[in-house]
Amino acid sequence: MKEFNYCQPTDIKFGQGRVGEIGQIVSEWGKRCLLVTVPIFPDFEALIRKVKQSLEESGIAVAHFDEVIPNPTTEVVSDGTRMARSHNADVVIGLGGGSSMDTAKAIAVEATHEGTCWDYLFFRDTQPTEKTLPVITITTTSGTGSQVTQVAVVTNPAEKNKSALYHPLIFPKVSIVDPELMVTVPKHITASTGFDVFAHAFESYLNLNGSPYTDLMSVEAIRLVAAHLPQAVKNGEDKEARTLMAWADTLAGLSIANAGVTLPHGIGMAIGGNYPHVKHGEALAVVYPAILRYTYRAAPGKFARVANLFNPSMKNLPDEEAAARFCSIMEDFLKEIGMSFCFEDLKVPKEELRALAEASLILPDYQNHPRVANLDEIHELLLKSCRI
Ligand code: NAD
Repeated sequence: MKEFNYCQPTDIKFGQGRVGEIGQIVSEWGKRCLLVTVPIFPDFEALIRKVKQSLEESGIAVAHFDEVIPNPTTEVVSDGTRMARSHNADVVIGLGGGSSMDTAKAIAVEATHEGTCWDYLFFRDTQPTEKTLPVITITTTSGTGSQVTQVAVVTNPAEKNKSALYHPLIFPKVSIVDPELMVTVPKHITASTGFDVFAHAFESYLNLNGSPYTDLMSVEAIRLVAAHLPQAVKNGEDKEARTLMAWADTLAGLSIANAGVTLPHGIGMAIGGNYPHVKHGEALAVVYPAILRYTYRAAPGKFARVANLFNPSMKNLPDEEAAARFCSIMEDFLKEIGMSFCFEDLKVPKEELRALAEASLILPDYQNHPRVANLDEIHELLLKSCRI
């Protein structure tokens, strides 16, 4: 068996109703917390009241930064940092989807270090130190896996660049995964975040850095997405579907934290950096069909196994054939969950695709894909993701 490392320091509290434990959990990490969320909207009012009440009952002084935006920017992180400093926060809670959890992680670094979070990206010489504030997450989407990763994705609008802090010190100390919080997620966000779960699981399964441990989790996450995402999209109040998607999200997050992602995420990050109106899951879904067709011959055994998870009749076919069939199985799945797009649908101009291909090579993820693409090939994949 190949050698591997596996690290997961986040204490996971999984189950319905567990958000009620937040006050007691935070009290073990600090006394003055910054709560980080998107601006309050009706579905969130009761949840935020409940969280604040639990914190106050545990004697925690709360400041609430409620200005997170999807694809959070360096400006948003700096605004949150100012509030963390003026409140003298000693712990940060990220409550929401990946955008809120990542903003919380980036604030935990920026509030305790010189410069901005952008100075601590994964490839810089300067890295977060032990001064980083402890982060606690409560995820409300399924999801980005951010509740169990050492990653904070941030966009720098001036540089039109979406990149990441990546450091063990930003693993959340504790993470509450309470599926009850997800029943209000609207259909399209359920589909888009749910597809991100598939992408994490699939890319960590394909990833050259994967291990028997991450394979175990990623294959199970893929099985759960294939079986339960369509139902979670169809009926958001189906608690079983929501619970199993929350579990799939957590497994896929644990898997990427150790194995990483590959080419689709490299391109998806470039799309998010250049076209912030495009949701993260949409940025992945638009390029997946072309990337699958480009890749399946390089990993027929893994593609065939995944095809079988979506359609058990595939097990009767030779791997090469099942692998090829998976490309159309995925196209049908994307249609079923309302995530079948071309670049025209997402308002990404065709004439900008060469520059987008160049930006897709900035992050190193594509190097761990089973077939390593060059600039021309990525450009070609992007052109194939257009309607005409
Ligand atoms: P998000 O956090 O941007 O939220 C999307 C929308 O969903 C928001 O408008 C929010 O208000 C709404 N929403 C969230 N929870 C809800 C609920 N329970 N009920 C109703 N509405 C709700 O979306 P996301 O997809 O979770 O996060 C995307 C971000 O995460 C991107 O920036 C992406 O790059 C990043 N990401 C991070 C990691 C990581 O490991 N850190 C991994 C993948 C993606």
